Amino acid sequence: MNYRKFGNTGAMISALGFGCMRFPEYEKDGKWYINDDEAIPMLLKAYEDGVNYFDTAPYYCHHNSEITVGKALKEIRDKVMVSTKIPVDKCKEAGDYRRFLEKSLKKLDMEYIDFYHFWGLSKEEYDKSVLGLNLLEEARKAKEEGLIKHISFSFHDKAEYIKYIIDTAESRGVPMETMLVQYNLLDRSNEEMIQYAASKGLGVVAMGPVGGGRLAAPTDLYAKLTGKPSISTYELAFKFVLGNPYLSCALSGMGTMDMVEKNVVIGSSKEGLTQEEWAQLGESAENLKKFSELYCTGCAYCQPCPAGIDIPKIFNLYTYHNVYGLTDYAKNEMKNYKNNDGKTIEHCKDCGLCEDRCPQSLKIRDELKRVEDILIKQ
Ligand code: SF4
Ligand code: SF4
Repeated sequence: MNYRKFGNTGAMISALGFGCMRFPEYEKDGKWYINDDEAIPMLLKAYEDGVNYFDTAPYYCHHNSEITVGKALKEIRDKVMVSTKIPVDKCKEAGDYRRFLEKSLKKLDMEYIDFYHFWGLSKEEYDKSVLGLNLLEEARKAKEEGLIKHISFSFHDKAEYIKYIIDTAESRGVPMETMLVQYNLLDRSNEEMIQYAASKGLGVVAMGPVGGGRLAAPTDLYAKLTGKPSISTYELAFKFVLGNPYLSCALSGMGTMDMVEKNVVIGSSKEGLTQEEWAQLGESAENLKKFSELYCTGCAYCQPCPAGIDIPKIFNLYTYHNVYGLTDYAKNEMKNYKNNDGKTIEHCKDCGLCEDRCPQSLKIRDELKRVEDILIKQ
């Protein structure tokens, strides 16, 4: 495994981080469970192969992810770094910080959290809750008491607000120490701010290195972009993220042992992209912008839709068509989806909930119509 300096935290972090939101699950009597017999060996295998950063959150895997992470890592607690998050939007008063923190500590069954994130910040939420309820002060106290080691944030808003968050927290004497942001070959909107964060001593972790699965498509993007013999698009997507010197770690949501093994190989590879290759790719990727006209990250915040429409799935299929030219595949998958009673735009109740929740501010209803026209009607 490759390791990198994690900002000014003093930690060396593995280039591959384990995103703990895709564990295998099953439902029984209307309740969801993680299959620990599969998930725990995956976590331990990743650790044995050098992964030392595990990122979970209270709501991942139907609220069960923290429990499984805690069980898996208990015996090796001091050898790994655990990250989890506070749902800032649910905080109504300053004391909620401690309440959520204690809940996470209990579920993890741990005495401390290494990186405690203000979760999915927008500027509005940051102003209203983090500053408005003085949660930074709560974070400072929790750190002093040793309940958390570092103060962190994850982010879903316009890139320019990253600077605002870093600067205001610093000016209040409670600097942010690490940041978790979306970054990949198709979405470089945070790139400048990643550099800014690094210049302020923050460690930076990238989420979505394979672009919500889009860059995992089995096509030869590298050859398409560079005209050179290929490496897999999946590997390329990771290498692109890790080729950014201001980033420390690429987080991957891993749900199978195969995926762990595949990702560990990439995180351990000594053959990164050269600076020229990285720059060339970046330049070529600019040409992909046109493919990003519908930029759905697959985050699923728009779910559940009251009409049962699987919006991220449908948008992902559109990307197969639009970005990779896999039109037959996309159309076929769309047909399967519908044949299996998958709901689409004709079932939409026009409630607008999805659009209120979408961090990318997509005009989801219009886009669904457009996708349907292309993948079903044409
Ligand atoms: S507007 Fe339509 S697609 Fe969006 S949440 Fe409501 S029913 Fe679902
Ligand atoms: S439509 Fe928006 S909220 Fe839904 S998965 Fe895509 S980016 Fe996320």
